[in-house]
Amino acid sequence: MCDTLRVRWTVTPKTAPQPWIACGGCGGLRAFQSSDKIRLNANGRKLDAWLIYKCLTCDKTWNRPLFERQNVRDIDPATLEALQSNDIRWIRTESFNLDALKRKSQRIDEFPEFDIAREVLRETAGWTRLEIELVVPLPAGIRLDRLLASELRLSRTRLQMLHERGLLGTSSDRADILRRRIRTGIEVVIDLATVADRELSWGPLATGSPR
Ligand SMILES: [Zn+2]
Repeated sequence: MCDTLRVRWTVTPKTAPQPWIACGGCGGLRAFQSSDKIRLNANGRKLDAWLIYKCLTCDKTWNRPLFERQNVRDIDPATLEALQSNDIRWIRTESFNLDALKRKSQRIDEFPEFDIAREVLRETAGWTRLEIELVVPLPAGIRLDRLLASELRLSRTRLQMLHERGLLGTSSDRADILRRRIRTGIEVVIDLATVADRELSWGPLATGSPR
């Protein structure tokens, strides 16, 4: 397509999910926040590793097991290196491990705030079609319609209307895609041929560059 503005949005949630755990310090169920620190315990060839959380009320720690009595030789070398060097990128990814958190807690709070980086992949003069490719490196508790509404400054009603008229399509065939969580691989295509101010108002919002 030569009449297209194609952008990539990389959306990263700011705050890791917080599990609710029975706190041994202040009593009762409390939200715990990742401290982004790992605790290791080596016992011969066996290794234990925990991600340390802190109670938001009293600071009491809770250690979330990552490995328990795991033979060092069975641990992937890159993971071992990350654990031993307290690799913040690895730890952060682990702090967003919702499946692991769900095994330890019935209630997990997720946060809607995110950072977004925009890249222009292709831009042709006189474009009439906007394509947005989403990259979501960490699980984000953000609905597609909320993301588009906030970043393109549209009401969710208008988004829904564009979707129903076939002017807004996605790479998914789910009818409720707009209400679902964003993830890598989702593409949004918006036909703006009938929108006169597309280059002035939609362009800068999509690309993040004022003009
Ligand atoms: Zn507490």
